[in-house]
Parts: sequence; C-alpha cells; structure tokens
Amino acid sequence: MTLFEKIIARQIPAAIVYEDEETLAFRDIQPQAPVHILVIPKRPIPQLSKATPEDGALLGRLLQTVQLVAKQEGLVDYRVNINNGAGAGQTVFHLHLHLLGGRPFSWPPG
Ligand code: AMP
Repeated sequence: MTLFEKIIARQIPAAIVYEDEETLAFRDIQPQAPVHILVIPKRPIPQLSKATPEDGALLGRLLQTVQLVAKQEGLVDYRVNINNGAGAGQTVFHLHLHLLGGRPFSWPPG
C-alpha cells in the first residue's frame, strides 16, 4: 500500500481540503508555495504514463478537482504540476497533481 492509499484509508493523517467519490485533495507536508495541495485519484494509478484510455474520465476529474480546490483556496493564478518518474522528481508512486499557488512562478521550471 502506498503512502497516499494510507491517507485515503485514513490510516495516516493528512490535512484534507476536498473529497469526492473519485478524488481526494490534501495539503503537501513539505509545501513549496503558500498553497501546495496534492490532488489524487482514489483508484491507484502509479504514474501518468501508466494511465490507460479507460482512465480518461478519471484524469479529467482530477483537473476538475484542481479547478475546484484552487477556487476554494481563492487562487486566480496557479501552477499544476505532475512529476512522472523518478528522473522527473516523482517520489510517491500514486499519481498526484501538485497545485501550487500564492507566489509568483518562473518559467522554465527547474
Ligand atoms: P512527488 O515528488 O511528485 O512524488 O511528490 C510527492 C509529494 O508528497 C512531495 O511533495 C511530498 O512533500 C509529499 N508528501 C510526502 N509525504 C506526505 C504526507 N504524509 N502528507 C502530505 N504530503 C506528503
């Protein structure tokens, strides 16, 4: 069981800010911006590159949850990030979208 599955099962605590049947959003434990929230599917997909065509609707739901949580947090400008694979900085192998806001962001990212 991954760390995020344990959060879904309430086996370890998290600051949950939104939940529906298919998605969960909670504050990152090591925030990289004033607002740093992770949005995850309850159905475990290890990483974006492992998603299948059948996951299409769920991938859409994740972006809708990001949109909803950003609004809930009062964010107008924000960044959404997915790290796919260890070389891209992924450390937890349960798909998650980073919602970052509350400060300016530069481009290109590091
Ligand atoms: P990534 O590096 O893209 O796999 O992102 C994993 C994220 O999970 C990191 O930003 C961590 O700070 C965050 N994280 C790790 N453990 C926890 C936890 N128990 N609760 C909330 N966020 C966590």
